Amino acid sequence: MKKLLIILILSISANVNAQLKVEKITNNVYALVGELSQRSPSNLGNNSTHGVIITKNGVILIDSGASYLGAKEIYKTIKTLTNKPITTVINTGGQDHRWLGNDYFKKLGARIIASSKTRSDQIARTDYHMKRLGTLISSSLKGTKPVYANETFKQKKILDIGGIHIELYHFGAAHTVGDIVVWMPSKKIMFTGDVVFVQRALGTGPAKNVKSWIQVFEKMANFKPEYIIPGHGHVTDLAEAKKDTYDYLVFLHDKVSNIIENDGDISEAVNIDQSRFKYLKNFKGISRKNAQNIFLQLEFE
Ligand SMILES: [Zn+2]
Repeated sequence: MKKLLIILILSISANVNAQLKVEKITNNVYALVGELSQRSPSNLGNNSTHGVIITKNGVILIDSGASYLGAKEIYKTIKTLTNKPITTVINTGGQDHRWLGNDYFKKLGARIIASSKTRSDQIARTDYHMKRLGTLISSSLKGTKPVYANETFKQKKILDIGGIHIELYHFGAAHTVGDIVVWMPSKKIMFTGDVVFVQRALGTGPAKNVKSWIQVFEKMANFKPEYIIPGHGHVTDLAEAKKDTYDYLVFLHDKVSNIIENDGDISEAVNIDQSRFKYLKNFKGISRKNAQNIFLQLEFE
């Protein structure tokens, strides 16, 4: 009885916090914005931002969520916007919240698209993600089955679906090795996945390549998007994306390079004064680790 009560309380609280905030960009384009904090049982692992494009022939979903229940929550939210079926899912990268909801949407008949590097990354890190999510979201991982993208491309893919033209680009490693951006030229909208974090501090990521991430950001910025749907945080513009992601990466890269050139050690990197970026959520927990990771990357070059 006591156990039942606890489960009941847990499921009630899960429903309260799982909600994704809907941000409308144009008539048929939306962002679903999850919590900025860590993955938790109540956010179902969806501490991330997702994109929705409603076409004449169905919905394109950008990033399928971190779990089966997380995907279900995304689906429920999309149903408040349209009754059209979800026909296409794009995974912008190899991190859990970009793809572990694939199974849910594949069962609904969607095709799943990612870069070939992301697909390999999904396969290589499945066990890691499942274990980590097991710890972070525990029972909210229930029903999650890893399903990989079934359509891949190397660098560029064009999609014309129900009157909407979008372009998918893999410019190189950013947060993860296979990250892509999705460009919708008609409205100058860029879906960046984990190439862009706003409002919260980024983590240097499993790709371990700060230089490449900086270059990928620059290539994305060359499109001069008017709206950016980031991987984390609210819908934004290029200026804020630059301030919260690009400037931070360049800052850390330059500071750490300077330490290495002067034969400094890792403790100096960890103690870099990063207070300029302390307004970002999660900064305290992650900033020193970021400097440390970048030191380890650049030290070997
Ligand atoms: Zn992410």
